[in-house]
Amino acid sequence: MGSGGLPSGGVTKMYGKRGDLPIDHAKPNSRYDLYVKGKRVQSRWYDHNGNAVRNRDFDHQDAHHNHKFPHDHIWKDKGKYIDRHGRIREKLIRDEDDWVDPDETKYPS
Ligand SMILES: [Zn+2]
Repeated sequence: MGSGGLPSGGVTKMYGKRGDLPIDHAKPNSRYDLYVKGKRVQSRWYDHNGNAVRNRDFDHQDAHHNHKFPHDHIWKDKGKYIDRHGRIREKLIRDEDDWVDPDETKYPS
């Protein structure tokens, strides 16, 4: 992963609503594409642990008109925490206002 081309873990298409893509426990080294009403609105890439590393947003709310589409968000791993089921998980966050131009070289969509 990260060297261009399709992710080795393949591409999973999901049909649903915004926010449906997993943040963790996804297929390792993969990309998930989210379709809402037949239109791809988001892609998300995952590392070898199945944790989110990058979003590509093709479309979402832009109340302040300060986004350019498509754009990417980079997920940051803030370390481990224990969820309410007692399971150890990675705390993964991304800042919705902190977006970058799409990296179509390393993360072709
Ligand atoms: Zn966005």
